Amino acid sequence: MRRVVSEGIIYKIIKYSDYSAIAFSFLKDYGKVKLFINKAFTKKKGLNKFLPGEIDFQKKDESDLNKCYGIKYDTSKSYFIENPEIFIRLNIVFNVIDILYYDEEQDETLFKYIYSLNEKNMSRWTIYVLNFILKKQGIGKSYDFCEKCGENVNKIVLHKGMFSCEKCEYDGLHLSKECTKILQKVYTQEFKELAISKEDEISILEFLLNYIESVTSKKIKGLSVLKELG
Ligand SMILES: [Zn+2]
Repeated sequence: MRRVVSEGIIYKIIKYSDYSAIAFSFLKDYGKVKLFINKAFTKKKGLNKFLPGEIDFQKKDESDLNKCYGIKYDTSKSYFIENPEIFIRLNIVFNVIDILYYDEEQDETLFKYIYSLNEKNMSRWTIYVLNFILKKQGIGKSYDFCEKCGENVNKIVLHKGMFSCEKCEYDGLHLSKECTKILQKVYTQEFKELAISKEDEISILEFLLNYIESVTSKKIKGLSVLKELG
């Protein structure tokens, strides 16, 4: 047992008794860690979901619940919680991290990407980060070829977790030619310059979340809110 400080973000909060909370955090140095926060909802403290900060806590070896002493928030990242467009994208990405990462699975690169989110890159950011997570967790696949016939694809059809061309599979979620092209460029330099419309972004996120759901059998929430923000 030792007292440590790590940069991190709280992404889920469950109220515990009257004033306390159990907070799910993603920390730069420790990955996903559960924190017990005593008197979390008093006027003095306040608990902010998605506002990065330095988290001071007791790191236990046996228990999965670690006592939190305090959080020093990074106010330069206030837009993470003040801009609803950014907040909802963080919500989607953290819903995926919650499902695809093990407890205490450290990932400094992912952490760096999360910090890089801003108003200018937000529509590319969500697509990029989700692809990074898929690749990291070993479930990323090529968007270039049909999994059934091996031919080049210009419109992907997602059916039962398989990426196919329209000739091989018609049932399923159809991705437009434009969106397929965007996904095919996700790891190239060109992607960083792409202007992605919100409509295309939503279609691609729907596709990616559907794919993750078919692999994990878990429902991922958050996209409907992004749609409503229109
Ligand atoms: Zn095919």
